[in-house]
Amino acid sequence: MEEKALECPVCKSNKAEIAGDDVKLSGRFEDKEFLTTKLTVLRCSRCGYYMMFDKTASSFTTTKDKS
Ligand SMILES: [Zn+2]
Repeated sequence: MEEKALECPVCKSNKAEIAGDDVKLSGRFEDKEFLTTKLTVLRCSRCGYYMMFDKTASSFTTTKDKS
């Protein structure tokens, strides 16, 4: 896996642990179900913020829970 310049958008920590690899997320939008491509999920070691990366190195972030 390529090295990424990682910075938590919440606490600016650059330490994260892998919470899951090749994770697919499914969900429902309006009346359609969807399934994402495989994602690597990193979790900030400090605040627990989840960061997700797909294989094309684009990234997006989401909060899944509260710490
Ligand atoms: Zn953080």
